[in-house]
Amino acid sequence: MNYTYLSVIGSLIGTIAIVLISLYLYVLYRKRYMGIWAIGWLILVIRHAIMDTGYLPWKQSFLGLTFYLLLTFIYVLLIVWSTYSFINKPLNKFWLYGAAGSFVISTALNLLPLPLTYKLLLPIYVCCIAGIWIGLTFLRNQELPIFSRLITGYAYLLISLINFSAPFIIPGSWVLPWGYALGGILRLTVAIGTLMLYFEKTRNALSAKELQYRHLAENAIDVIYYYRLLPPATLEYVSPSALAVTGYTPTEYYANNRLIFTIIHPEDKTLLGDFIANLPHTLSTPLTLRLLCKDKNTLWVEHKCLPIYDKTGHLIAVEGIIRDVSQRKKLEQMASTFDRMNMVGSMAATVAHEIRNPMTTVRGYLQFLERKEKYQTEKENFRLMIEEIDRANTIIREYLALSREKFVSLEPCSLNHIIETLFPLIQADATSSKVSASLTLENIPDLPLDKNEIRQLLLNLVRNGIEAMPTGGKLTIRTFLDENKAVLSVSDQGSGIPPDMLEQLGTPFFTTKENGTGLGLPICYQIAHRHNASIKIDTSVQGTTFFVYFNHPLQSMPPEL
Ligand code: ADP
Ligand code: MG
Repeated sequence: MNYTYLSVIGSLIGTIAIVLISLYLYVLYRKRYMGIWAIGWLILVIRHAIMDTGYLPWKQSFLGLTFYLLLTFIYVLLIVWSTYSFINKPLNKFWLYGAAGSFVISTALNLLPLPLTYKLLLPIYVCCIAGIWIGLTFLRNQELPIFSRLITGYAYLLISLINFSAPFIIPGSWVLPWGYALGGILRLTVAIGTLMLYFEKTRNALSAKELQYRHLAENAIDVIYYYRLLPPATLEYVSPSALAVTGYTPTEYYANNRLIFTIIHPEDKTLLGDFIANLPHTLSTPLTLRLLCKDKNTLWVEHKCLPIYDKTGHLIAVEGIIRDVSQRKKLEQMASTFDRMNMVGSMAATVAHEIRNPMTTVRGYLQFLERKEKYQTEKENFRLMIEEIDRANTIIREYLALSREKFVSLEPCSLNHIIETLFPLIQADATSSKVSASLTLENIPDLPLDKNEIRQLLLNLVRNGIEAMPTGGKLTIRTFLDENKAVLSVSDQGSGIPPDMLEQLGTPFFTTKENGTGLGLPICYQIAHRHNASIKIDTSVQGTTFFVYFNHPLQSMPPEL
């Protein structure tokens, strides 16, 4: 056994190391370029093992040398291809044609009676050029991690430079074993560099991905969390949106692992217990429960949770998304309230109807008695009683009109008349709220209106006006003409509407009142829209006026009375 032989073995070991590492990485990550890389280097190992070691007498036979050339060019092509794949580029066809051309030329030279050195010159230099190109590709690629890129790049360059000198080394000289030995060490370096390069690249890609997901989680409106159950139970992640939703910062959640459970509404705690106990059957439907926020408000949330099991099937963690559904819940509650109100409304309508009948009888008797001789002195009182009954009747009639189904039918009618008939109801409402109401109705032409809808519009505006005023305030309802448009206005002496709130007026469910529905104005806007009318608001600290401009082209004015 001589030194040359030993050095070839050393070089073989270096190459085998590269093959093993590439295979290992391929099995681990299933990246195609790692597979190609491994095959390329494996071909070199085969060449080393059966030819460079001298087992196969290839140097003397034409076929042996052709096989040697074939292995070498395939090896070059494969490692160049895998390098292109590694940097996410397709193989440059130049390499394919170059390798094929070089193989044809080398085979032709093989036929000539030339010394072996000349026959090997082309394959060796193609290997060198490929090695230098790979080395430079690594060194110049700024996207690759610097340390491993330098190690691998320079190792490739050095291997190639040594190979450049190979044809000129006289067989049997002392330089030869050193060349092989150095080649072996450099190949080991390439193997280690590749491993580092790959791990660093994967780690960078992973952290970039992690950052991407983190950004998604951190900018989500919903709360995203990860809770490890075993052992010890720890909240590992909660997204910053937890602050906006619940009022507690992620730091507060991390400091107190139980906080996420303590904020669950006491009545809903069992819901969560059942949910966890019956996993994974409960997964299909999100859990809806209440949370108690830091500001003591109750929040409805929808909780979608995903259990994480270990390999033995034990539940080890839960991750999930918590969504604030308070607005939706409010809508649902409102819908059911309206449903109830609707029912109560229709019942009240029946009751009101029943009240009207006995009142008609009472009114009839009062009229009958009023005419009797013995009550002539009480005539004034009878008149008062009949008037009051009439007023009560008007109120009931208007109430009934409101509770009836609405069909929008625009018919020409007098806005003033509608207001006048509704006025007793308005006055009753105002009096019970300890404010007064007055009318200033100017002469305006008939307009195409739906009586019921206009009644509702007026009542909504009047109600808001009354609610906006302190005791003793005065509500004024006016009708007038402005630039040939009929206008209805409702003014109050409340404290006005702040500018930031003005923008939100008319948005369904926007209310500043404890028991408000926030539906009054949206309905007014709808009604106005159906009547081709527009609503304008004039507000100051002295009070607010709502103007309803009817945009109908005015027909002939009725004669002045
Ligand atoms: P609600 O009366 O149920 O609150 P509305 O849609 O009728 O719902 O009114 C929405 C909000 O607009 C009220 O909560 C109130 O803050 C404001 N608003 C309406 N009309 C007036 C008014 N005349 N003066 C002051 N604020 C008003
Ligand atoms: Mg209202």
